[in-house]
Amino acid sequence: MNADGRRKNGPASEQPDDRTLYEAAVKMRERSYAPYSRFRVGAALLAKDGTVWTGCNIENASYGACNCAERTAFFKAVSEGEKQFSAIAIAGGPEGAETLDFCPPCGICRQVMEEFCGQDFRIILGNSAGELKVLTMAELLPYGFGPGDLDK
Ligand SMILES: [Zn+2]
Repeated sequence: MNADGRRKNGPASEQPDDRTLYEAAVKMRERSYAPYSRFRVGAALLAKDGTVWTGCNIENASYGACNCAERTAFFKAVSEGEKQFSAIAIAGGPEGAETLDFCPPCGICRQVMEEFCGQDFRIILGNSAGELKVLTMAELLPYGFGPGDLDK
């Protein structure tokens, strides 16, 4: 990872596979700032050019200011000019837990994904048993409200 928080993976032929992306999300849990919920989440967002943008959840004493790992990754990427994405891996669970279970994105994060991602955008969840569950945007947010709906 370079100084601005992104990991360059080179051309498309070298894009990380699902497990590699999930392991990046697991590693990002270490950066989680979650003193209130003690629920630590990491995310790894894959741009179509192969760049991996990582994020963690960042909580706040004013609870409404909390931000999820997925949105941290999206906002880092979009703020640097990236808007084309193919997948995101998410790893979350209670602080100190010995095992991780599948951790699906919350509704607000699904809405942020809807803004930038197509119906084939992939959401990769994992657990400590080594299983990966891969869902699409179409499965996670059917009939979502997106940019195109403003023109109707
Ligand atoms: Zn969320």
